[in-house]
Amino acid sequence: MLTLNDYNSRIKPSWCPGCGNFGIWGALKNALLKQNLSKDDVCLLYDVGCSGNMADFVHTYGIHTLHGRVISVAMGVSIANHQFPIVAIGGDGGIYGEGVEHFITACRANVNITAIVHNNSLYSLTTGQKSPLAAKGKKTKSTPHGVVEVPFQPLKSAIIHDAGFVARGFGADIPYLTELITQAMQHKGFSLVEVLQPCPTFNKDMSVQWYLERVKKLPTFDGLSEKEAFEKVDEAPDSLVTGVLYKSERPAYHEHFPQLQQVPLLGQQIETVHIERLINSFI
Ligand code: SF4
Repeated sequence: MLTLNDYNSRIKPSWCPGCGNFGIWGALKNALLKQNLSKDDVCLLYDVGCSGNMADFVHTYGIHTLHGRVISVAMGVSIANHQFPIVAIGGDGGIYGEGVEHFITACRANVNITAIVHNNSLYSLTTGQKSPLAAKGKKTKSTPHGVVEVPFQPLKSAIIHDAGFVARGFGADIPYLTELITQAMQHKGFSLVEVLQPCPTFNKDMSVQWYLERVKKLPTFDGLSEKEAFEKVDEAPDSLVTGVLYKSERPAYHEHFPQLQQVPLLGQQIETVHIERLINSFI
């Protein structure tokens, strides 16, 4: 019989007191338990950052990847075995900054993975520089006179590119986030769960209280039309909608390939290919 403790490594989390990462960590473990997935039944991949430090605290199959590359590595794992539950975990800096091209590609391709993005609108591991989600005018260590650019729109981008499942949660609402992560993992194709994550150390003006005054849960888990979802997203920052914003039932990436219908790539007999001639042509 699985318990939450089965997902804990021997290392205790080193996040700052009050960090939203604790809630995301708890919700993720709850979601694994709810689906009865043992440590050997799931692959968790991590970007670099405070979020990626979770790699040390969770005991499952996993890879701590390079900065900005977690989605691309997760896509590779999925192409090797699309039947295995795969979760890519990272921050808004790594996934929407350095890794934005991989993020858009995963949405377009509808690769069968779930991405959990810890959104605190900063690069926090490097002590508080603006991320692509920082609001215009926000003062950070790297923007003492305020951010000039308008923020990236990940939820709208995922919807425009017809990702399978697009949701937003709040790190301090663990039961609701547990449900969103569970549904995301069970949905076919690319699932995005963006999580509003307080960073009390470097983003003091977006406290838990600040979020509590703005977070509004959708009444159902049915998803919205593209138009309704955009309207809800546009209510930010006065109202931050959480819940399932959008669902698409289009085929996942692997479903376009007849040779993957029965057996994933990993289980197939692939003939040995002799590449000496090719190598010799470069010498
Ligand atoms: Fe969490 Fe911010 Fe501390 Fe990083 S710096 S562990 S995001 S509170």
